[in-house]
Amino acid sequence: MSWTAEDEARVRSCTGCILGAHRHVAVPGTGAIPARLMLVADQPEADDDQMGLPFTGPAGALLAKILGAVGLSRDQVYLTTVVKCVPPGRLADEDEMLACLPFLAEQIAAVDPVVLVAMGVDATRALLGEDDRLGTVRGHWHHLGERLVMPTYPPEHLLRFPAAKHQAWEDWQQIAQALGLTIPSRAAS
Ligand code: SF4
Repeated sequence: MSWTAEDEARVRSCTGCILGAHRHVAVPGTGAIPARLMLVADQPEADDDQMGLPFTGPAGALLAKILGAVGLSRDQVYLTTVVKCVPPGRLADEDEMLACLPFLAEQIAAVDPVVLVAMGVDATRALLGEDDRLGTVRGHWHHLGERLVMPTYPPEHLLRFPAAKHQAWEDWQQIAQALGLTIPSRAAS
């Protein structure tokens, strides 16, 4: 299974749900293929909709710091979202997520990650079928077949609620451990 520029073009021209009529550009995903770590957020943010890339703007800057803290860079992982088009000032609904899920399934097969990070309630539901609050499911390993799945707070949440950074860092320490990464001493201190 592969995920190529032609597949990204399929996403960019997709009209599989109503969100296709509202987007500026679709946000297929970006990063290394294959990759041992794949991050899945709920949906693109407004900045992403302008850039055509996930995790841009202040949230992307925070994510880069988090990845750096476990010794990774953005181009060593694969980044995507459950729905690939930004909803107009709301969260994506169930039908929109269902319409878009086949793209995510193709990406997971192509990226073939050891660890998936579900960054949000919808990402957790899409990967695990879990409807629980993120605060309940985060911090524990779940499974998607043979892949490990760690739900954790997305960077947008950490920007709004900085007190949650401590819990997020606990999750990221577990992720680093599962990947056999050595946390740089400056981040660990
Ligand atoms: S959200 Fe997904 S299914 Fe809907 S138009 Fe965008 S790419 Fe197509």
